[in-house]
Amino acid sequence: MDYSIKSDKKLIESCVCDYNCNTKRFIQNFNNWTSGNNDIDKFIQNTQLSEHTYKVKNALEWIPYDRLDDIKYVADYKSGKMYRARWTDGCISDNSWNTSITLEFINKIAVSHKVYGITQDQETKNYMVVLKDICEKCKIMCNSMYFQQNFNNWTSGNNDINKFIQNTQLSEHTYYKVKNALEWIPYDRLYDIEYITDDDKFGKVYRANWADGCIWYWNKINKNWKRKDQNMFVILKILNNSASITLELINKV
Ligand SMILES: [Zn+2]
Ligand SMILES: [Zn+2]
Repeated sequence: MDYSIKSDKKLIESCVCDYNCNTKRFIQNFNNWTSGNNDIDKFIQNTQLSEHTYKVKNALEWIPYDRLDDIKYVADYKSGKMYRARWTDGCISDNSWNTSITLEFINKIAVSHKVYGITQDQETKNYMVVLKDICEKCKIMCNSMYFQQNFNNWTSGNNDINKFIQNTQLSEHTYYKVKNALEWIPYDRLYDIEYITDDDKFGKVYRANWADGCIWYWNKINKNWKRKDQNMFVILKILNNSASITLELINKV
């Protein structure tokens, strides 16, 4: 989609649809929103005036800032700061957004990202583009993104262990079944913990039941991991020196 500005008069005249196309619907709604900035209003309206479709494909919309919550800073890019937020009204997935807003920027970003609309931070007054959240490597949502969105919802209490687990999750560029990522398992999710034997390398070995079972795939509707093998038997080995956990060690286990 080329978000270039054409005269809206021409665009309305160019409607040859014999049904109530989205362009017509958008025009009826022009008076019900404003970005507070004439250029941005025009810009969004122009994308809507080209939407002679039944299902909306490319039109942008004005997204009121208070429809976004859980806003978290992600990274600094040449084009501006990037944040991740939850969009209450929703398209299907979560969205990230970016500060600078120029036509060039939107055109550039529209090559690889689905662009939903524009919003304004009520405090800084910055206009921001609202994009679909995707993995920069996979160009679609992958499991590493779902893990990343969840980083603030758990901690092992040890920075090295957090980093180690997070790294395994960030490498999980898979699309359906999770293959190799580790997770932090709260101790109270394990029960019937029973001593089995002494191992030369690890010391005491235990057996337990894991109530939740292991991560299977991302459930897009619940926005949580679908798990399998609830109450499965697992083996517990003690990590004597937590700082020295390496992938090699985990592989040996
Ligand atoms: Zn039309
Ligand atoms: Zn990926």
